[in-house]
Amino acid sequence: MADYTNFTVETDSDGIALITWDMPGRSMNVIDAQVGPEFKAIVEHVTEDENIKGAVIASGKKAFGAGADLSMLEALLDNYAEAKNKDPEQAAKDLFESSYQLNQNLRALETSGKPWVAAINGTALGGCFEIPLACHARVASEDAAIGLPEVKVGLLPGGGGTQRVIRMVNPQDAVQMLLQGTTHRAAKAKQLGLVNEVVSADKLIETAKQLIKDGLKAEQPWDQKGYKAPLNLWSPAGVQMLSAGNALLRKNTYANYPNALNIMSCVYEGIQLPMDRALEVESRYFTHTLTTPEAKAMIRTLFMSMQDLNKGARRPDVEKTDIKKVGVLGAGFMGAGIAYVSAKAGLEVVLIDRDQEAADKGKSYSADLLDKAISRKRSTPEKKEALLGLINATTDYDAFKDCDLIVEAVFEDKDVKRTVTEATDAVTPDGTVFASNTSTIPITELAEAAKSAENFIGIHFFSPVDKMMLVEIIMGEKTGDKALATAIDFVTKIKKTPIVVNDTRGFYVNRAVMRYMQEAWNMLIAGVPAPMIENGAKMAGMPVGPLALNDEVAIDLSQKVMKQTVADLGENAVDPDHVKLVNTMVTDNGRVGRKGGKGFYEYPEKPGKKHLWPELKELYQQQDADEVDIKDVMDRYLYTIALEAARCVEEGVVTDVREADVGAILGFGFAPYSGGPITFIDQKGLAEFKARAEELAAKYGDHFSPPQIIKDMAAKGETFYGGAAQAKAA
Ligand code: NAD
Repeated sequence: MADYTNFTVETDSDGIALITWDMPGRSMNVIDAQVGPEFKAIVEHVTEDENIKGAVIASGKKAFGAGADLSMLEALLDNYAEAKNKDPEQAAKDLFESSYQLNQNLRALETSGKPWVAAINGTALGGCFEIPLACHARVASEDAAIGLPEVKVGLLPGGGGTQRVIRMVNPQDAVQMLLQGTTHRAAKAKQLGLVNEVVSADKLIETAKQLIKDGLKAEQPWDQKGYKAPLNLWSPAGVQMLSAGNALLRKNTYANYPNALNIMSCVYEGIQLPMDRALEVESRYFTHTLTTPEAKAMIRTLFMSMQDLNKGARRPDVEKTDIKKVGVLGAGFMGAGIAYVSAKAGLEVVLIDRDQEAADKGKSYSADLLDKAISRKRSTPEKKEALLGLINATTDYDAFKDCDLIVEAVFEDKDVKRTVTEATDAVTPDGTVFASNTSTIPITELAEAAKSAENFIGIHFFSPVDKMMLVEIIMGEKTGDKALATAIDFVTKIKKTPIVVNDTRGFYVNRAVMRYMQEAWNMLIAGVPAPMIENGAKMAGMPVGPLALNDEVAIDLSQKVMKQTVADLGENAVDPDHVKLVNTMVTDNGRVGRKGGKGFYEYPEKPGKKHLWPELKELYQQQDADEVDIKDVMDRYLYTIALEAARCVEEGVVTDVREADVGAILGFGFAPYSGGPITFIDQKGLAEFKARAEELAAKYGDHFSPPQIIKDMAAKGETFYGGAAQAKAA
């Protein structure tokens, strides 16, 4: 057999070919431009070689594979964009042909007349799970996890995933898996019917081969005579499933995700067809999906940019710090969370608070989270003990002596922060990096209390720390490269995504999200009915309405921030109507938000559902709902945030536009289909964005006036990603 770069093939004395996928120079297998043709050649060889009775495909790596190489898809799209200008019809045909190849190859595999078994170790995602799906059986190791996460990056499974899953799994679970991109562990996958056997890792190949020796049928159920698909569209259950499924999809996505709609179409159309035709239909929808702006935007931000940032794209070129031990100052809500995620990543943690009781309480937060995980079978008592063993809850600063990094999360009070910074500096060796988790105080100011402003930095977590994937790193005026590198090393070690911004009031993410909530206040004050304020936001693609979000972060916190802003910058720095609204809510009505059981929403005892406070409509003269332009409501949110992101780029707060996009999506869920606020502007086109912003400014206020950077770029026909703004970051 020919030599392959990415695979080895060994045929044993039983005539079973063991195909081991092990891409050189990569930690994970992916389907790239070379793997496709090589795998095709292997399928042809197995089919034609009379000495081969069947084949097992396995991985030579720790996991089976991560899916298609999305940078290959990006390149495919770039070629398409160029070819489209010359001959649109031919360009579309070529794109379809390249998208269809994997499907054809996997179809050749399943109709080869020889049994194929996939031996899945570790994760098998996307295209790397579609290969096993085409096999006649799948054996998974106990630690395996499988899934089709394409929907999350604006795509759909285009290697037969939609068609095979819908024929293998009960329809409701199948549609849910495709639309949510859920990853299933081996045991669950077996229960669903997606894998045939689960065995220990060392028995994987042996079991897979045994299935073939035991006479595994080399014909898929759907190719057998008299096959009946589990989903019968014309049965009452089928009709209900699809109508309910579509309604649910609409409710959850407001049709903002063409890929999700295309998945439903693949299911609906594909299930009525024989497999060959069904796969062709899937490939057509895949091709269409690929050409949507949403797919381009999501691949860019949610995959490429995020991957780059996770790999430390913004890390300066200084020696890597091998962080083993962190000190956490303040064992309150945030400090306890920071201690937990650090210990979870295997780091030793020293957790200090004012007294032992407070420090212990902070540690017990980890114990509670782990108890919950154990009850959901996501952890074990042994793992709990091991993790808790890493956390030293104490009041003794001496324990900070050998920490590689200190993260401070005490009260949001400059004097308290000064005291603990000084106490830390007194015991830690020179060169120890000190990070503050402040949400509002400028890092440059806090650094004045430290013995080295160069080693002082902001590491801003979001709450709840264990769930939020984003961490905003803030550079003070004097922060040096070593502090930045250490902060990035820490954040990537705890498996979160870092963005790096420069020091300013609210940094980047809070500045942007404040705009979101303030626009809701503006509408409330102008008498837009509250349900329209909330629903308009969801229609625009925001996961949580601005009033609900304000309740979550607490309205009294908004009040505090405003008071502080007035104290620092004077009365003119805040809108008096906003102050009045927030005072009405908090001071007059005691409505502080969710934590107090009442805010813009009422929170009745369970099983009651939260609902908007009915008296909101008494606060301001209400507009007639029919007079409110819902498109304006939607755009007001997207534009006010996008404009703030552009201002942050203009002011140099954000220096790499990828971070503005990733930060807004991970930080507060900015319409993910848009690829983030900067991609939103770019995809609209600067001129169109500017014109619409000016229109909104004329109707709703000056805060919509485009900043100079937008005007200049519109005049020059530039985009943020293509233009000077990003070149600076590269
Ligand atoms: P918190 O009140 O829950 O916790 C603060 C902890 O600091 C308390 O346990 C307190 O006992 C301890 N502390 C106070 N003075 C101390 C001292 N002198 N020595 C040692 N410990 C001391 O507050 P939090 O919500 O965890 O916020 C902590 C920091 O994180 C603040 O700077 C806040 O702005 C920031 N932050 C908060 C959030 C959030 O959502 N809560 C988000 C991002 C950043």
